[in-house]
Amino acid sequence: MTSLPQSSSGLSASSRPKLSSVLVIGAGMSGLVAARTLHNAGINVTVIDKGRGVGGRLATRRLAVSDKESQQIEGKLEGKVDHGAQYLTAHEGDFIALVEELREHGVLNEWRTTSGDRPATPRYYSPDGMTAVAKYLAQGLEVRLAERVLRLEYDAHADKNFSTDSSQITTSAGTQQGWRARTDKDATLHADALIITSPVPQTMMLLETLDSARLAEMLPDTTRILLNTIEYSAALVLMLALKESPRFLGQPLAPNGGIRLDTKHVWWLADNQRKGISPHVPTLTLHATPEASREHWDTREEELIPLLLRDVSDYIGMQEIVTHSLHRWRYSRVLKPFPEPYCRLQSQFPCYLAGDAFTRSEWLPTRAEDAALSGLAAARALLLERA
Ligand SMILES: Cc1cc2nc3c(=O)[nH]c(=O)nc-3n(C[C@H](O)[C@H](O)[C@H](O)COP(=O)(O)OP(=O)(O)OC[C@H]3O[C@@H](n4cnc5c(N)ncnc54)[C@H](O)[C@@H]3O)c2cc1C
Repeated sequence: MTSLPQSSSGLSASSRPKLSSVLVIGAGMSGLVAARTLHNAGINVTVIDKGRGVGGRLATRRLAVSDKESQQIEGKLEGKVDHGAQYLTAHEGDFIALVEELREHGVLNEWRTTSGDRPATPRYYSPDGMTAVAKYLAQGLEVRLAERVLRLEYDAHADKNFSTDSSQITTSAGTQQGWRARTDKDATLHADALIITSPVPQTMMLLETLDSARLAEMLPDTTRILLNTIEYSAALVLMLALKESPRFLGQPLAPNGGIRLDTKHVWWLADNQRKGISPHVPTLTLHATPEASREHWDTREEELIPLLLRDVSDYIGMQEIVTHSLHRWRYSRVLKPFPEPYCRLQSQFPCYLAGDAFTRSEWLPTRAEDAALSGLAAARALLLERA
């Protein structure tokens, strides 16, 4: 991070506050990898996420069906569906090492799909659904869930000669210096440093809650323009629980149940039962193409579902749908990233922006691997500047 203007705090080591607490916004792949790295280095770190569970776009949904509605004989049953990332790929050393660790702990298995693209790259899925990866990473961390950061505040005296213990530093008004995050649970969280991993348009909205003069100092126009040109595709995802396992007509699915279709409206179909995450209830995941997702973003479910099903009828035949759910990912995959693994604001108390939109990789759209590597790079940079 030397080429971009915001990459350095511009402070001498003696004027840097000590790093005693870090708040990580977002418990997706990026935030959890960052938090884990800091936690392992002995830093007091808190992760906060507006979602009810960890994972962000590593997302697994449960679809409840009753015994009457399925082939099963007893009890209430649940199907499982991965409706965000379908699998992981690993190219860089640090992420390959993490994938190996996850495999050793039974969190990931290799997944052979029929998709024609990049067949030489192994793909990994979680037999418990992709959120299991996030749950593994979150072990031992302090994570606040179902709590949204609404507003950020910042206090620092740039000319102050800092002591080594930033928790002792107060402004003339008596407030603790550093970052404050106000949440929708009326909590105020103080931290010496922030790592924000939400999708960038959401991050920008959060940053704009800061005093505007402060923000202008922290975020020069050149950087702001780069951040505002980051692009995401949207994704409509249909999840289905079926009465019986689909027969798969026409082009058969591989035994492991994933296929890239590229029909007019659907680009990906996965059978979660064959994948191994939904043993008792047959469930399917259908990802609409980016074009169809854009065009039909506001289309009502009653119109959208038949449209998507028509495109896959050649593959799965007419199946009886027991229950369904539709998810709309406004920020799904990054099509145009920020060309560095993170962005550091020009603030005395550090604030790093990270996530899958921050990568030097040329492979687009970006992947969960980019999110992990960005979180790791931000955490390492934070540790280094405070060393
Ligand atoms: C449909 C779909 C399919 C995909 N398929 C693949 C694939 O097969 N392989 C692959 O490698 N990648 C895939 N991806 C991409 C991959 O899922 C992402 O790159 C990765 O998970 C992003 O991680 P992240 O931590 O950067 O962001 P996220 O996972 O989005 O995490 C950000 C978190 O921030 C939280 N947050 C946002 N604002 C606030 C706030 N104000 N307060 C508190 N919390 C907040 C959110 O709730 C979220 O949990 C797919 C994504 C989608 C949507």
